[in-house]
Amino acid sequence: MQRVMQLETCPYDGSPIQAESFSGGSVLLSCAHCDAAWEWHNAWVRRVQPPDRARLAAPLTGSHTVDAAVEPA
Ligand SMILES: [Zn+2]
Repeated sequence: MQRVMQLETCPYDGSPIQAESFSGGSVLLSCAHCDAAWEWHNAWVRRVQPPDRARLAAPLTGSHTVDAAVEPA
């Protein structure tokens, strides 16, 4: 799995962002919390879907910390 260099957390709510590789080298980045999405390709990132403002207003439901990232192998 390729590491996403920038945009590892959502700029709107700080949730971890999920990356999905596309053919052609593009990566679709999406936030499960607010539904915002970005397309990442080489040096640029373009927002393809704005965040859901209702979800941004809601409190994070326990998934704020990323245990998998710091858990020893
Ligand atoms: Zn978000």
